[in-house]
Amino acid sequence: MMLQLFVPLNVLGVVYRGLQYALADMDLVLRLLERTPEIQDKPDAQALVVKQARIEFRDVEFAYLPERPILRGISFTVEPGSKVAVVGPSGAGKSTLSRLLFRFYDVDQGQVLIDGVDVRDCTQTSLRDALGVVPQDTVMFNDTIRYNLAYAHPEADDERVAEAARRANLDTFISELPQGYETVVGERGLKLSGGEKQRMAIARVVVKDPPIIIFDEATSSLDTRSEQAILEGMNAVARRATSLVIAHRLSTVVDADQIIVLDAGRIVERGTHEQLLTGGGLYADLWNMQAAAEE
Ligand code: ADP
Ligand code: MG
Repeated sequence: MMLQLFVPLNVLGVVYRGLQYALADMDLVLRLLERTPEIQDKPDAQALVVKQARIEFRDVEFAYLPERPILRGISFTVEPGSKVAVVGPSGAGKSTLSRLLFRFYDVDQGQVLIDGVDVRDCTQTSLRDALGVVPQDTVMFNDTIRYNLAYAHPEADDERVAEAARRANLDTFISELPQGYETVVGERGLKLSGGEKQRMAIARVVVKDPPIIIFDEATSSLDTRSEQAILEGMNAVARRATSLVIAHRLSTVVDADQIIVLDAGRIVERGTHEQLLTGGGLYADLWNMQAAAEE
């Protein structure tokens, strides 16, 4: 009981200090809540310089609790500029992959590498600068649209913000608001729909413009029509980066260069959409189930 109380408070301390020093990335700060405080930079940690943006998981084994393995023998590569999707049942370990890439946890065995550099050998700041995430639930400040898009990048000018909104398929929506970019959103302002919020999250990542982007179930809570607008935004963004798409909704992964099917922490299938459908395995089952559910 004591331990249970102690640990979360300790973690909050870390987050609070993070907030004071740099209100860098609210989604990231919240994700720090999931982080174990013992993750530290090595004394000789180097700043990660991303040249190609190749992601590699090499024989990764990971467990949150020693008695319960979550990822087992995970190996895959996301080639520079390509799009790899990870699908599989809830609890399979998909989001854990993204947490390991951010190094919120260290692997038990194997390596997570970016351009051949183990994420444990680089500074956490430089690692997080290289990664952008579009999470399932995005945090919005009770502030203007402009602020919400650019808060982590005070250097971003109006043009860069507008370009981000355009790429995220949000510009028409914003231009129809009487106060445009100055419209206050959130609790005391305009309430955004799920789809608008997701496009805000995408536009935020575009403002950041990282070489690697992770989409974690970015469309799972949306209806098919809002999903389409987001898919267009996602694709416009992903074209310029290496992307890892974690998806529940399989319509978001059809065009991926490679789809990895995760089940109970193991890769059980991999290939393109066509290859996996023909294979008639778990992916084909999931696909047929979702097709039936949407009819
Ligand atoms: P997915 O994204 O595929 O739904 P996750 O990667 O989030 O699955 O989680 C994989 C498994 O790890 C789940 O069984 C989940 O309950 C467990 N898990 C996730 N986070 C933690 C944690 N912080 N501590 C213990 N177990 C966790
Ligand atoms: Mg998940």
